[in-house]
Amino acid sequence: MDRPTNSTCPEGFLDRLDAFSQIGTTDDGGVDRVEASPANGLARRELARRMEAAGYRVLVDGIGNMFGLLELAEQFAGQEAPWVFAGSHIDSQPKGGRLDGAYGVLAALEAGQALKERLAGRPAKANLAVVAWTGEEGARFQPSLLGSSVHAGILPLEQALARKDGNGVSVADALDAIGFRGRDQAPKPSAYVELHVECAPALENSNTRLGVFDRWWGAHKLELLFTGATAHTGPTPMAKRKDALLAAAEVITGLRRLADAAPAGALHTSVGRLEVLPNSPNVVPDSAKLFIEIRSVDAKVMADTHARLMELIPYAATLARVAHRIVRDEYRAPGAFEIGLRTLAREEADHLGILPMSLETIAAHDAMPVAKLCPSVVIAVPSRDGLCHSPREWTDPRDLELGVAWLGGILERLVVDGPESV
Ligand SMILES: [Zn+2]
Repeated sequence: MDRPTNSTCPEGFLDRLDAFSQIGTTDDGGVDRVEASPANGLARRELARRMEAAGYRVLVDGIGNMFGLLELAEQFAGQEAPWVFAGSHIDSQPKGGRLDGAYGVLAALEAGQALKERLAGRPAKANLAVVAWTGEEGARFQPSLLGSSVHAGILPLEQALARKDGNGVSVADALDAIGFRGRDQAPKPSAYVELHVECAPALENSNTRLGVFDRWWGAHKLELLFTGATAHTGPTPMAKRKDALLAAAEVITGLRRLADAAPAGALHTSVGRLEVLPNSPNVVPDSAKLFIEIRSVDAKVMADTHARLMELIPYAATLARVAHRIVRDEYRAPGAFEIGLRTLAREEADHLGILPMSLETIAAHDAMPVAKLCPSVVIAVPSRDGLCHSPREWTDPRDLELGVAWLGGILERLVVDGPESV
């Protein structure tokens, strides 16, 4: 049933979003709320406080995912009523922006609260859960999408808890330190909607205020270690050196050349992090660890590029006279969001007088692992200059409010008519 829902953005939403971004604020307007850091713990506490104040029952599961439950359907559909999920994440990059993730969680919280008031006891077929997934960013703990992958059954809980950060601190210990390794059993979703800032410039470039992600790009994420031998950078003859950093350099530029040789926009490659030891100006590096990413929407391009990388690595190692080892190689296949939810999102945008743009997401979102469990979708408002993972991240406040109203309309349809209706 497609009918207007009268969903609007709750008054004062922008002020409350502003107040939330003071937690872990950096002096340049961004936030630093890396997963399970003290600032992340404070943000989690504030989220729980807001959820409880708005009438949600708060659960924290074994990987620290936070759920705010609104039992809207129980009296009509009993204990077995399905759950509609909405949310995102409140962890950030070390120099992250204030909207990436937090906007979607707070929008879901307030849209859900407003929906409950709007329903005022009207029959509903589904309950609503607002969720903040653990470790979406992958800044401190890899892989990214940690909490949603556990909830979706893609990553076993014990494996996720054993993951360690760069200082050897495990996810389990880090969550314990902030008091957010929970024991609650959360319900499973029957539909999931994630509102996010676009993190790309397509909406801005086309002067469109709302977007629906149709597909997501796949990603290969690898950690590659080159091991050579330390020596004095002065007297050691060039031919005798076993320079791990030289091999790394060859892979870094080689990967870039693969992307440059592909059709425009078909392939993105990167080495975003490099750990060099002993990292001294006058010592030949004996260890270089690279964090490599290969991304494309085309599974064949992904496979071909991975194969080329597997040729490039031994070539680089031989050139630099070092050993090589792949420490981690994780693959996330490209895919599509469910058509029914995308259509519903478009209808609701239409009620707001907007024709939404079709988008592809290159960045990862929690809706991707959740898509293994149930229909899921990511909807977006514009990002100025396409920027995310930056303190300069910004979205027009009117678009932020429009996004909340849009989400509210989508959630109302899903909750009232039931997720099986889409
Ligand atoms: Zn995000």
